Amino acid sequence: MSAISQKQATGGCLCGAVRYRILGGLRGVVHCHCSKCRRFHGTFSAYTGTSMENLQFVEDRGLKWFRSVTDETPNVHRGFCAECGSSLFWHPRDQTMIAVSAGSLDEPTGLRVMGHSWVSQKGDFYEIRDDLPRYARGWERSERVS
Ligand SMILES: [Zn+2]
Ligand SMILES: [Zn+2]
Repeated sequence: MSAISQKQATGGCLCGAVRYRILGGLRGVVHCHCSKCRRFHGTFSAYTGTSMENLQFVEDRGLKWFRSVTDETPNVHRGFCAECGSSLFWHPRDQTMIAVSAGSLDEPTGLRVMGHSWVSQKGDFYEIRDDLPRYARGWERSERVS
């Protein structure tokens, strides 16, 4: 078993009405610049990811799921706290992987940003100022643009 898969991460929303733990490995962080993430998060998102089976809720009284029908990925549900509004999860219901907002994790996360997805829909009010990989659409599922 690798070191990362032994890690237990914890996190939650701003008010505490959603708390979770993740038993298992976390992917590096991807900034998604799609227009849906921008509306949901206020700007580009910062998502790590794990397998659904690794995610356990310690508190979920605030958890609500919004079916995001305009997402390019089919059957995406976005999870948030209905009490404080924190944006927490992105989950295509027919996939085992769930994206978790890196900002909701308790520190130290041990994570690093590894690149950018959906730069074809990037907001016009900021620039990407690093040299990390950029994908036109989905991470490692579309044309790499730099
Ligand atoms: Zn909350
Ligand atoms: Zn997105």
